[in-house]
Amino acid sequence: MSRAWIARRMEQIDSSGIRRMFDLAARLENPINLSIGQPDFPVPEPIKQAAVEAIGQDRNGYSPTQGIAPLVERLQQQVVAQYPQHADREVFVTSGTSGGLVLALLVLVEPGDEVIVFDPYFVMYPALVAMAGGKVVLVDTYPDFRINAERLEAAITPRTKAILFNSPANPTGHVADEAEVRAVAQVAQRHHLALISDEIYRLFCYDVPFVSPAQFYPETLVLEGFSKTYGMTGWRLGYAHGPRAVIREMIKLQQFSFVCAPHPLQWGALAAWEVDMQEVVRQYRRKRDLIYQGLADLYPMPRPQGAFYAFAQLPPNTCGQEFAQRAVEEQLLIIPGSVFSARDTHFRISYAASDETLRRGIEVLRKLHRRVVS
Ligand code: PMP
Repeated sequence: MSRAWIARRMEQIDSSGIRRMFDLAARLENPINLSIGQPDFPVPEPIKQAAVEAIGQDRNGYSPTQGIAPLVERLQQQVVAQYPQHADREVFVTSGTSGGLVLALLVLVEPGDEVIVFDPYFVMYPALVAMAGGKVVLVDTYPDFRINAERLEAAITPRTKAILFNSPANPTGHVADEAEVRAVAQVAQRHHLALISDEIYRLFCYDVPFVSPAQFYPETLVLEGFSKTYGMTGWRLGYAHGPRAVIREMIKLQQFSFVCAPHPLQWGALAAWEVDMQEVVRQYRRKRDLIYQGLADLYPMPRPQGAFYAFAQLPPNTCGQEFAQRAVEEQLLIIPGSVFSARDTHFRISYAASDETLRRGIEVLRKLHRRVVS
C-alpha cells in the first residue's frame, strides 16, 4: 500500500548507479577509495576551535534564517569587493551548497520549465530540477568538456528558464576559461535566463585562473560552499549571492525548510578568513599531476585543471558498471561515468586521497587495462 503513496516525481530521481557503488564499497575492508568527492585533509585547527568554543558558549539554538550577523557581514564585504558594481547583490548562508541549489531551483523553476545542464554534470542537478518540476535539457560537452556556445544556443527553447553552470567542474575537473564563461553569460543575458553558477570548487584551479559568469552577467546567482575549501563536508555550510529579489525568496524558503545553517558551525566558518589554503591547492595540483601522468597514456582524458577529479575514457567496448565491478574485485573504487552523464564512455576518479592510495589506484588501473584490452 505505502508504495502507492510515493509521489510521481520520485520516479525521475534515480540514485541506483551511485548506490550500487556504495553497496559494493561497504563490502571491502581496505578499499583503494578513489570514489568520494571530499577532501582528505582535516578542517584547519582555528576553524575547529572556533566551532568548539561556540558549542561551549551555548550558541546551539537557531541562528537567524540568513545566517549569523558577523558571517553574513564578512561574506557581504567579500562579495562587494569582488563585484563593486553590483549594487543589488545580496548574500546569505545556506545549508551547504546543496541547500543553496535546492532553494535556487525551487524559487526559479516552474513545473514544465526547462533547465540547461552541461553533460557530464554534478549528480544532484537532474534530481533537483526534477524535484522542482522542471525538465533537464542536456548540452553535451564531450570530448574535451569545454563549453560550446553554439551547442548551448541550440538547446534554448521558449520554455528555457535557467542554465546551471559549474566550473571548476565535477566530474570532469574542467575549468572554463574566460571565453567559455563569457559565452555562457552572454547567452543567458541575451535570452533573459536565470544563470546559476555553482562555484564550490573555485579555490581549486591549477592552470588557468578562476572566472565567474557574474563578472559578465550581474544577474548571475552564485552558489558557494565551505565543504571542499576547508574539508568540512559534514558541516553543511555554504552561501549564495545574487540579485536581491531572488535571494530574498530563497531566504523565505529557507525559513520554512532548512530553517538555518548549523548555528555553532557558522561561528567556526568565521575563522576561515584566518587560514590560508594555498598549500592544499599546491598538494592537489601535485596529485592531479600524479594521476594524469600515471594514467593518461592508457585512459585518454583531457588534463584536469581544477576541482579534484579526473574523467577518463573507458577502454573500448567496456561498460562503466562492468568496469567498476572489475575494479572492485581489485579493491578499487571508482565511479562509472553514466552516473554523471547520458553517455557511458568514461569513469570518474577522485584524487582527493593520499599519495599511497593514488599509487595503488594507478597500479590497479594499469593492470586492469592490460586485462580488459588483451
Ligand atoms: N556542487 C558540486 C559541483 C559538488 O561537487 C558538490 C559536492 N559534491 C556540491 C555542490 C554540494 O556540496 P555541499 O552541499 O557539501 O556544499
